[in-house]
Amino acid sequence: MPVSVDSAVSADCTVSADDSVCAPLPVLGRDVRVPLVTGGEVDYAALDYAASAPALQRVWDDVAAYAPYYGSVHRGAGYLSQLSTDLFENSRRTIADFLGCRPDGDAGDQVVFTRSTTDSLNLLAAALPQDTEVFVFETEHHASLLPWERRADTVVTYLDAPRTPRQAVDILAAALAGREPAAGTDQGTGRPAGPALVCVTGASNVTGELWPVRELAAVAHAHGARIVLDAAQLAPHHPIDIRDLDVDWVAFSGHKLYAPFGAGVLAGRADWLQGAEPYLAGGGASRTVARRTDGGVDVDWHTTAARHEAGSPNVIGAYSIAAACQALTEAGFDELVAREQRLIARVRAGLATVPEVRVLSLFGDDAPRVGVLSFVVEGWNSSHFAAALSAEYGIGVRDGLFCAHPLVRTLLGSESDEPGECGAPEAVPGEKSLNAIRVSFGAGT
Ligand code: PLP
Repeated sequence: MPVSVDSAVSADCTVSADDSVCAPLPVLGRDVRVPLVTGGEVDYAALDYAASAPALQRVWDDVAAYAPYYGSVHRGAGYLSQLSTDLFENSRRTIADFLGCRPDGDAGDQVVFTRSTTDSLNLLAAALPQDTEVFVFETEHHASLLPWERRADTVVTYLDAPRTPRQAVDILAAALAGREPAAGTDQGTGRPAGPALVCVTGASNVTGELWPVRELAAVAHAHGARIVLDAAQLAPHHPIDIRDLDVDWVAFSGHKLYAPFGAGVLAGRADWLQGAEPYLAGGGASRTVARRTDGGVDVDWHTTAARHEAGSPNVIGAYSIAAACQALTEAGFDELVAREQRLIARVRAGLATVPEVRVLSLFGDDAPRVGVLSFVVEGWNSSHFAAALSAEYGIGVRDGLFCAHPLVRTLLGSESDEPGECGAPEAVPGEKSLNAIRVSFGAGT
């Protein structure tokens, strides 16, 4: 008989429920009550932090305290403009410290404010030197899988899904070793000279598994390539030290880091960013603009992060990310990680009591992971299962293919082209699921 949602939710959990390790951090939305189809209402259980995390109370308080003083950035002599400009630039410095950035300069790092991880990676894709080769695992989130194809001169190599972290390193090493030396370079050195970029996620948004970032960076650099870290899922769960990991860029989103005010970050090597055309053309990115005698215009673009931040910047978004970085640093990642690991262990233990449940994993059950976990329930359409968790228990999870279609299809063993983000066809008992259910935790759970 197929499992019921009820047995999955109420499965006994034998792992110690001692959560005294660290109390959850105060977040907005903890007191939300949701109506149930069965009658009555319950406290909302937000288990979809990987999609968007609620604002930390501290972030909300900081933003509220600043809001009355909101003003234009880099555009006014008035007190509020100056205050906002200071706040914006100080936020940049706070985030640079949070990431352990190298000192600004040609080979140093800049922190560019963007809208999101997707925006950050598209910015980097637009800034690649001519004819860059990009290497990306097929397992990536679409935000890190898709931006590279859009430049006609960029050559993209998609790498097969590894089944262990070691295999990931080997696959990348083999792909980079196979690069052709760039035309016109000294073929005798054996060292390819054309620009190359590796893009890798720090923690999977599907399995939560950690990727061997430091090892991949070492391989990339040994082959003369650079590496960008998609830290959308890593940043909320782990401290990131750009120098220790030895990655060239880091991209992440405010809304997954408890700062849901529409901003993201691309931090890393200034040289490629400043050697590129501005991401957007407009005020703020340009230092001076003058009419030429032939009737056209000459533009002198900034060579700071402002080059890629044309238009009035999202100062509240930037400030909120900096506030979140400070709050997480003060709370201490060790405590947060310990708490999340406990929660994940409890969920796993509960799911293990339901034989119809299969937890999805690329690197194996014991692989280290952040507080993100996906599973399927045999005989259940995952969308229906997720809808039932919401309607009958007030539990908010995600279902679908999680914007990582190739990865989820590999994990499900499904060749189907049918399912979209949700609304998958009916699952048939005994047959493979066509999409999955994801639970994810964070500092407020
Ligand atoms: N990368 C990963 C691993 C993600 O999980 C996500 C979002 O789920 C993104 C990139 C894209 O983030 P955003 O939608 O904030 O641009």
